Amino acid sequence: MLVLVANLGSTSFKYRLFRMDGQGGEVVAKGGYERVEDYAAVIDDALATLQSDGVISSPDEIEAVGFKTVLGKDLSGCVNADQSVIDSLDGFAAVAPAHNPPYANGIRQFAKSLPKARLVALFETAFYQWTSPASANYAIPRSWREIGIRRYGFHGASHKFVAERSAELCGREDVAAVARRLYQNGPGEVEGAPFRVVSCHLGGSSSVTGIRNGVAIGTSMGFSPQSGLPQNNRVGDLDSGAIPYAMRTLGISLDEAERQLTKESGLLGLSGVSNDIRDVREAADSGNADARLALDALVHSIRHWIGAFLIELGGIDALVFTAGIGENSTDIRAAVCEGLEGFGLKLDTAKNASTRAVEADLSTADSAARILVIPANEELVLAREVYRKLS
Ligand code: ADP
Repeated sequence: MLVLVANLGSTSFKYRLFRMDGQGGEVVAKGGYERVEDYAAVIDDALATLQSDGVISSPDEIEAVGFKTVLGKDLSGCVNADQSVIDSLDGFAAVAPAHNPPYANGIRQFAKSLPKARLVALFETAFYQWTSPASANYAIPRSWREIGIRRYGFHGASHKFVAERSAELCGREDVAAVARRLYQNGPGEVEGAPFRVVSCHLGGSSSVTGIRNGVAIGTSMGFSPQSGLPQNNRVGDLDSGAIPYAMRTLGISLDEAERQLTKESGLLGLSGVSNDIRDVREAADSGNADARLALDALVHSIRHWIGAFLIELGGIDALVFTAGIGENSTDIRAAVCEGLEGFGLKLDTAKNASTRAVEADLSTADSAARILVIPANEELVLAREVYRKLS
């Protein structure tokens, strides 16, 4: 089955074409466009290129297109990307302005350009469908809850991949099998000891998710992708009282407050240096105290959420690092794991220091729980979910 994974930004379109076969997936072509103004034109150009390059002999060979949609109003899961998906993305366009409009537009375009293909949307919120009401609800008036304000969670594709892969790596094929079919079958019964994972997706945006038997029990991100850990240039968690106070005291409008919290906060806001952790690290190493504070605040927040899920899970079998920072930043991993020996997490510091961007077990032989690096590959995750849904 040929599955095209479409990655749509506000001015970009990237794609990967996968040949899917069982659990395996092979990339047979990839490409992308920047500064896109006319999505219909670039999608048609991509299909024409695949044909002229001999990858496909007709666009009809592409059986499915997968979209990693972010936040739907009243809709989540792995679903057919039809008008209801477009409506749900439109309904929350104001909450995810960088993500929802391009996907709504892209789905419309693909329906025209590939009328025979199955279009599938995998919402980033899908993995959190089974979290408890106690964890999903904010303590706000009913009228606020009725307009959809609650904790949704994001990075669902990445954390679900961690749920599957960590179970495989820890010899829990029973749990891995449940995790793989989660969106088709729902949470399954697992015999024997529960398998407890805390997954740290640390990248341009970051979140920490607790996972029991392949199913998320909670996550650090909430209503919008502005929440949870300090992000690259987005604020992360903030006391709601700070916004009216800052607006009144600094004399700024709501739009300006929103801009500063979404563009000038996070690692960039705290460090004053950069939204990229490599630059922040370099500045901290050369004595910049604000840059040091930014790194410390990120580590503090990661540990805060790991602690929350350790309690809720009643222990831990695997702590997992994934995405750009999680896979590469050896010092962030070391700082996160410091002093966790009492919880069964012993880091092999030499192994940690030499591991970048590859799957690895960083724990010592006598560590009760595993500390793993699992590289993210969100396009493959998407292609797999599309394949599972359709097969
Ligand atoms: P996104 O969340 O945007 O998909 P990534 O998961 O690729 O992004 O993470 C990007 C971030 O990862 C960068 O902003 C940078 O802070 C960090 N990063 C990437 N490569 C490295 C590296 N070699 N060492 C340390 N940090 C890195």
